[in-house]
Amino acid sequence: MSKKLHACTELLHGGRDPARHCGMVNVPIYRGSTVLANTLEEWESRKQPDNPYASYGRFGTPTTHALEELVADMEGGHRSLVFPSGLAACTHAMFSVLRSGDHILLPDSVYGPTRAFAQHTLARFNIAAEFYAPHAGAGIGAQLRPNTRLVYVEAPGSGTFEMQDIPAIAAQAHQAGAYVMMDNTWATPLYFKPFQHGVDISVQAATKYLIGHSDALLGVATANEDAWPLLRKGAHDFGQTIGPDDIFLALRGIRTLPLRLRQHWDTGVKLARMLSRHPLVARVMHPALPEDPGHALWKRDFLGASGLFAIELRPMPAAAFTRFIDQLRLFGIGLSWGGYESLVLPMDAPKRSVSPYPVQGRMVRIHAGLEDSDDLIADLRQALQAATDCLAVPGLEMAVHA
Ligand SMILES: *Cc1c(COP(=O)(O)O)cnc(C)c1O
Repeated sequence: MSKKLHACTELLHGGRDPARHCGMVNVPIYRGSTVLANTLEEWESRKQPDNPYASYGRFGTPTTHALEELVADMEGGHRSLVFPSGLAACTHAMFSVLRSGDHILLPDSVYGPTRAFAQHTLARFNIAAEFYAPHAGAGIGAQLRPNTRLVYVEAPGSGTFEMQDIPAIAAQAHQAGAYVMMDNTWATPLYFKPFQHGVDISVQAATKYLIGHSDALLGVATANEDAWPLLRKGAHDFGQTIGPDDIFLALRGIRTLPLRLRQHWDTGVKLARMLSRHPLVARVMHPALPEDPGHALWKRDFLGASGLFAIELRPMPAAAFTRFIDQLRLFGIGLSWGGYESLVLPMDAPKRSVSPYPVQGRMVRIHAGLEDSDDLIADLRQALQAATDCLAVPGLEMAVHA
């Protein structure tokens, strides 16, 4: 076929080969450690590093390779590797590039556990982690050093949803000879094409939208041709591997990703708009809203939005805040996101190093699930009303939570 296919069509036809699997529509769950060869010649060819018919289960099975092929195509990268969690993909990808004595720059709004890894574990290997203001853009040039090996980006940032000018940052990083690594979990490769914007290695928590059903953990890292040998070697040396059932769940999830994501996007924007007009809400952090400070960058570089955003509440007594959260019926309280179910997460102020935390009041992260958006809006409204009723109780006005 000469014409380029649409993303949803490619996701339905990629990473499958029924002829190789007895006609089965889906790639089966292959279990195995030992892979037998029939002849010496076949054995020698299996041992080649990029042979998709690997020589040992630790390097993946046909189930693993189907997922890696599908994600690499979706990201527009050269090759992908799967990891046992999203965080494992972030940390192993960083480790595969960095050497003792190197310097790495990370945005101040980076995912908390990635920050912790850089500050604690990388430091033990004499790798200096420094943070930069998420909105630095081309100004990041001032923080690049001769030994800067890696510039990490994540847009929008975890928790605060601050956008980044990734092409401008990537141009500066490349000029200084550094690699650019991105956490692309929020947008997924459907809504942000990292390799068209100067990224060399893209990582994502497949735990979120790719798997999409809150029933497994998985990470994927994808590299361009230049960074691929580093990623493959670095990751294989650690010996981590993933069981085939979780891979199968990711393959199954991805087939419906375009449909689900479209709905998460729609509902998320509807909830965000309603909340932005509510008197108890001080601010909504969602780059797809025109009033968001990151909106212009989102519009320029992204093809859509996911269902994850945050709100800052007006100062209110702890009892009113508790009432709001506990009164929600359709939103569970919990970590992670990207599943079909709606979630809220009360957020503590995260660590910041160089830029002020741009939030004063209580912050709540919201994941818009696949429930009907009218039902979700009604649920949020009644919970906010319960909190408002709480404010009217005499004596509570004084205990303001800053
Ligand atoms: C959840 C998340 C991760 C980590 O994924 P796990 O599968 O939970 O380890 C990494 N980055 C971002 C932005 C995330 O939201």
